[in-house]
Amino acid sequence: MTTLRQATKPPGQAPPVFPPGQLSINEIYYTIQGECGWMGTPTVFVRTSHCPLRCVWCDSKYTFYEGKPKTTNDVIAEVEKHPTKHVCLTGGEPLAQLESFNLASSWVLVGIASMRKRYAGQDKKVMSAILATPHASYGMKLLIIVDHDVDPFNLDQVMWALATRFNPATGVTFINEATMNPLDPIAPGKAYGTKMVLNATEPKPPQPVPAIGIVKPPPETDRWRGILEKRWK
Ligand code: SF4
Repeated sequence: MTTLRQATKPPGQAPPVFPPGQLSINEIYYTIQGECGWMGTPTVFVRTSHCPLRCVWCDSKYTFYEGKPKTTNDVIAEVEKHPTKHVCLTGGEPLAQLESFNLASSWVLVGIASMRKRYAGQDKKVMSAILATPHASYGMKLLIIVDHDVDPFNLDQVMWALATRFNPATGVTFINEATMNPLDPIAPGKAYGTKMVLNATEPKPPQPVPAIGIVKPPPETDRWRGILEKRWK
């Protein structure tokens, strides 16, 4: 049987080193995923270039040399033009470039949620629910919550909500000593730090408290009490 090591020729040239925040990209395109469990799902493919490996089965030799530097912000902006949440970071060999880690973690470090708020405190419920999800509890460090009339995919609208509905005195929540993504560029390898939530929703009045009545003991109470007293005497 041919092992991966036997099937790989000596490495080619290492990718060029770009300034921080940039990586070498061969192509970005939108199509239908044709492999794995996501087969059939509309996906944006981000193909890195300057692969230093030389697998004998390689069908992407054009990625060895063809590529242009792009910033991670440019890549994210291009990906977000397409109507899908599925992104495949592929090669080439993405892991040959350190910036690929930052690119991959950029998609989970910051989250924006839009909610239909009906009463005061409901935003905190939504915040807690989001931060309890596997993705957010693992690596999200900034969560922005906006009202339902703000499109969370439109950053201009999100900035408008922050400018007009966010109150710095009451709208910031810090969660210290939380689990974090170890790929976070500001604290690589730590997996531990602070999360922040910015609440840019409009204030609402509290939910009306329902009338509280006196709960009468059920009719069986005397019989149960008799049984317990007999047993524990
Ligand atoms: S592009 Fe992929 S298949 Fe080709 S040499 Fe690089 S890692 Fe191997």
